[in-house]
Amino acid sequence: MTRKIAIYGKGGIGKSTTTQNTAAALSHFYGQKVMIHGCDPKADATRLILGGKMQVTVLDTLREHGESAVTLDRVCQTGFGGIRCVESGGPEPGVGCAGRGVITAINLMEELGGYTPELDMIFFDVLGDVVCGGFAMPVREGKAQEIYIVASGEMMALYAANNISRGMVKYAEQSGVRMGGIICNSRNVDGERELLEEFCARLGTRLLMFIPRDNIVQKAEFNRQTVTEFDPASTQAGAYKELAKRLMETTADELAIPQPMSMDELENLVVKYGLLD
Ligand code: ADP
Ligand code: MG
Repeated sequence: MTRKIAIYGKGGIGKSTTTQNTAAALSHFYGQKVMIHGCDPKADATRLILGGKMQVTVLDTLREHGESAVTLDRVCQTGFGGIRCVESGGPEPGVGCAGRGVITAINLMEELGGYTPELDMIFFDVLGDVVCGGFAMPVREGKAQEIYIVASGEMMALYAANNISRGMVKYAEQSGVRMGGIICNSRNVDGERELLEEFCARLGTRLLMFIPRDNIVQKAEFNRQTVTEFDPASTQAGAYKELAKRLMETTADELAIPQPMSMDELENLVVKYGLLD
């Protein structure tokens, strides 16, 4: 069965970088069949897999050419490692609701049969600092069963992670969605790993992986590639490989409903690690 996985986190935290690198590792090292469905209006969730190409988005096609023009041939492309890529895209800037666009794009992909059963995993790359029903939709409607949050030791990243947890608790009972863990995409903050360990323990989830911050990510990006493609033997590619392995080995009992913290608790936790100085 296909595992449908939603990746949430604050803007700029590294969701798309981490998702694409992990997808590349899943395919390259483990032969997994993977798809990425970008749900951020920025539509840059699949660029590294497609060698830098900006993809034709579902919503642009819909708006410019009508629904009959939205075909898998047009909006679904295959890139590195056979990874299938789709971008929802966004509404016209200043007009319409980006969250509703996410719903439309996912529904269209379902109708077109884009989420084919031979896929091992589908990643929905969703932004997480917007409190909006549309962006909660992959969770609310049970389109994704597992959530992973990308965070770091920075207050705003933890704040967003806590908020996202709060949002998913509301839907967990009815949709069956569960939290698989937090991925720390390091910002090289002092005591970051310990802070994240404690944050996860309090939230009732696990720190799935600590991904180091490394310039090789930018070098690979400059070449329009994931690190896996750019230098599969590098330490950083090894980190994404390990994350890929942990994802594959995740069992049902590691999926949980989180217990979000109050604002006070979260602030006290951050202060304890000296990050508010
Ligand atoms: P998001 O999708 O959450 O908005 P991105 O994945 O686009 O964020 O990441 C923003 C930038 O951060 C990327 O351009 C990338 O160069 C950089 N980045 C992400 N992860 C790492 C890392 N582990 N090491 C170094 N740079 C990173
Ligand atoms: Mg992104």
